Amino acid sequence: MILEEERQAVVNACQEMQRKGLVVGTAGNVSVRVGDKVAISPSAVEYEDLTAGMVGVHDLDGKVIDAQLKPSSELPLHLAVYHSTDAGGITHNHAPASTAMGLVCETIPFSHYYSAMFGGPIRVSPYADFGTDQLAHNVAAALQGRSGALMSNHGAITIGPTLDKALSLLPYLEYICEVQLRAMSTGHSVKVLTDDQIAFQVEAIKGYKPSKA
Ligand code: 13P
Ligand code: ZN
Repeated sequence: MILEEERQAVVNACQEMQRKGLVVGTAGNVSVRVGDKVAISPSAVEYEDLTAGMVGVHDLDGKVIDAQLKPSSELPLHLAVYHSTDAGGITHNHAPASTAMGLVCETIPFSHYYSAMFGGPIRVSPYADFGTDQLAHNVAAALQGRSGALMSNHGAITIGPTLDKALSLLPYLEYICEVQLRAMSTGHSVKVLTDDQIAFQVEAIKGYKPSKA
């Protein structure tokens, strides 16, 4: 089976999203890119039932290279992101806080410095129906210079040079949104960092690399 390791990595990432409570049901999708090939989760398959053989492989135009099942309905979105960034992996989910934040703002207020992990203020892409080229276009634009974005009235997306990196960003994005929503729900105005503080944090956080002892 071609790209067997990568297909298994897609399964593992989907199941980790589920274990961490970052998806509900079959919401969300995951892909990894290797050169001109993309391995992507199939559409509407329960994550606990997923196997590497169910993960299809397509070229960057969406042509099937090896797939038994229908690919994720967001294949156009994943392809648009691979065409417009140098991402090696993509995770998309519908976690509650990030989905809720996408209902109330155009950019996540830069109140927590963790937003710097995403390259700057995190945009909310304008609404478009799921699975459409319009959604793909809107989200690819929102990701320019960023490693994460929210999708209006839908969910969240993270990208990284590797699938592991993209996956590791999802809980941080959910955390930022959760904290922001809690702060907003007090009714007090929420403090945000200044442009200078944001610029400093975006550089500073590049040097912060958690390591296991
Ligand atoms: P798929 O199951 O087709 O990947 O769709 C889930 C989803 O999140 C659509 O945006
Ligand atoms: Zn979705």
